Amino acid sequence: MSQEHSASEPGDLRTPIVAVLGHVDHGKTSLLDKVRGSAVIEGEAGAITQHIGATAVPLDVVSEVAGSLIDPESFDLPGLLFIDTPGHHSFTTLRSRGGALADIAILVVDVNDGFQPQTEEAIRILQDTQTPFVVAANKIDTIPGWRPHEDAPVQETYEAQSDRVRQQLDEALYELIGELSDHGFSSDLYWRLQNFQNNIGVIPVSAETGEGVPDLLTVLMGLAQRYMKEDMEVDVTGPGAGTVLEVKEEQGFGTTVDVILYDGTVREDDTIVVGGMNETIVTEVRALLKPQPLAEIRTEKRFENVEELSAATGVKIAAPELDDAMAGAPVRVVRDRPLQDVIDEVEAELAEIAVETEEE
Ligand code: GDP
Repeated sequence: MSQEHSASEPGDLRTPIVAVLGHVDHGKTSLLDKVRGSAVIEGEAGAITQHIGATAVPLDVVSEVAGSLIDPESFDLPGLLFIDTPGHHSFTTLRSRGGALADIAILVVDVNDGFQPQTEEAIRILQDTQTPFVVAANKIDTIPGWRPHEDAPVQETYEAQSDRVRQQLDEALYELIGELSDHGFSSDLYWRLQNFQNNIGVIPVSAETGEGVPDLLTVLMGLAQRYMKEDMEVDVTGPGAGTVLEVKEEQGFGTTVDVILYDGTVREDDTIVVGGMNETIVTEVRALLKPQPLAEIRTEKRFENVEELSAATGVKIAAPELDDAMAGAPVRVVRDRPLQDVIDEVEAELAEIAVETEEE
């Protein structure tokens, strides 16, 4: 059994949580796969860690992928945690203390297809939850005549295209910037922006060739570091707080909950309070489970037990009485607080979610 402080040390800064939104077929899944893929190739073996429901890309991997775009010395956030399920449903059901669980979002737009109904919906959700975001103008490789440069920074590959190709991309990008403006957002190509606080950075990318992925990671890291550092200052040794991603039956463990932990730590034997369909659940953690590292997958043991985990991370919690647990509900570690206070906190949050669901 291993002791693990995922991505953060006690008293440290936690990992910002990143979500991916956008219209169907615009490339959300492909982009996530590409980020994971390039991180696996660039990183030391095992540097990128598959969590339950999320993928952690530590700072050293971000800086390897980003190459000269990034100066790792200027960062003290531990990296980025990508929620693996892209889309609006997971974004709106995953909340933390009334806000969005994700600290930052990538809005994926097919550069040829522009704004579509679900792009509009995503914009509304991001506005309502006041979630900072960047726009990934995806599928740049489909511009007729495009010469791909695998995994290259986008400016480099842009300069290497013919005038005609560049012009066509410029036109598509300006249309996109116009559409963002129609929705009340000032935006520009990210390398032209000085201030990301009042402007949306547009990053041309290809989930197919990896072009622009170094830029995307750099901009996300920079945004988080510059504008969200205060929100990342959590007591990672304190009692854990998280959100249920999914409730799942697991052979040998019974009903388990997959949780994104966004604050504090959770340990084996901790008493936890979980929002339930009918009643609030009070139970004790039996096992904390992480996916087996890829190298050991043949042992047929799908999960690895850990004693302790710190935010931000994804984890599967096995505990009795979880049958009634609810996706999107809060999870809290009790530790040395009065149990009733924690129950009240969970129930207040659940009531808030219920009101918002009725309003939708
Ligand atoms: P999602 O519905 O937003 O998750 O979209 P997917 O990731 O499933 O992508 C939809 C289709 O577009 C798939 O066939 C992908 O292979 C393709 N696709 C996604 N990104 C790119 C890209 O950058 N370039 C090209 N040529 N195809 C892409």
